[in-house]
Amino acid sequence: MVEPTIFHSILSREVPASIVYEDDEVLAFKDIHPKAKTHLLFIPKHFVASIADVTPETAHIPGMLILKAQRFAQEQGIKGYRLTFHVGKGGGQEVMYLHLHFLSEEKLKAL
Ligand code: AMP
Repeated sequence: MVEPTIFHSILSREVPASIVYEDDEVLAFKDIHPKAKTHLLFIPKHFVASIADVTPETAHIPGMLILKAQRFAQEQGIKGYRLTFHVGKGGGQEVMYLHLHFLSEEKLKAL
C-alpha cells in the first residue's frame, strides 16, 4: 500500500505548485523552501518512494530524471547546476516520493 505524499497531491493538482516543466514522464516544480536562486524538484509520474526502492524494472527512472533536468537546463541556458537525490531519512529525505533536486545560482528565465 502506497502512503500518499505531498508530491502525489501536487501531481494530481490537489495541492498547487509552481510548475516549470511537465511531459508524459515527469513533473518539475519550484521547491517551496529554495536553497539556491533556482531550486527545482523533478519527480517521475510513475511512483517510486526512494532510490533505496529502485529495482531492475525501475532503474531507468533516476537516469530519465537526470536527462530531463539536463535538457531543461540546456533550454534555460543554465550552464552550471547541482543534482541531488536524498536517500532515506538518514540521507535527509523527508518526502517519500523519489525526486531529483536541481539547484543553480542562475535564475530561471521568465515563463
Ligand atoms: P527531501 O528532503 O529530499 O525529501 O526534499 C523534499 C523537498 O520538498 C524539500 O526541499 C521541501 O522544501 C520540498 N517541499 C515540501 N513540500 C513542498 C511543496 N508543497 N511544494 C514544493 N516543494 C515542497
